[in-house]
Amino acid sequence: MVLRVTQYGEPVLKEKGAPVTEFNDELRKLADDMVETMHAAEGIGLAAQQVGVAIQLFVMELPVYEDEPDPEYQYDGKHPPLELIMPLAVVNPVLELAGEEAGYEEGCLSFPGIRGNVDRPTRLRMRFQDTEGNPHEIVCDGLFARVIQHEYDHLQGVLFIDRMHPKVLRPLESKIRRLRRATRDFLKGKA
Ligand SMILES: [Zn+2]
Repeated sequence: MVLRVTQYGEPVLKEKGAPVTEFNDELRKLADDMVETMHAAEGIGLAAQQVGVAIQLFVMELPVYEDEPDPEYQYDGKHPPLELIMPLAVVNPVLELAGEEAGYEEGCLSFPGIRGNVDRPTRLRMRFQDTEGNPHEIVCDGLFARVIQHEYDHLQGVLFIDRMHPKVLRPLESKIRRLRRATRDFLKGKA
């Protein structure tokens, strides 16, 4: 089922997600619905806060390019093909960041039409659980590490605009204010 994506201005986007303690059908259904929602919105990552649930869960799907080799990464110490591990549902992630910071233009499904450069470390190690509760570890860099950090931030209630340099943010401010007003009007209409 495709869910509504929460928009900037909704309080749930600023909420830190509660740790997941029950690995049940309800959790797996939510993860499946989030993957469906991410696909419908043509995104590559979606956090639980973006469907209105503040828990430690995100989903992601890196694009697979037929004519390009898979990016370098390790999944539980191996290198399975990308299509075997994507879409990926990540529960209770813990990150160890490494590498120098690099800039990249990011977007976010909760900020339609708004994109901006964000500096982030280029490499990371993530320990997490799948929706059955099994522990895993991913070591990656590039876009893989970028998406993980963006989604991990959502789980802490941190948004990509919070990480933008003021020089990047300033030209986006009027668009962001307009979005927040539209969200407030939507929420008032619902009340
Ligand atoms: Zn986002």
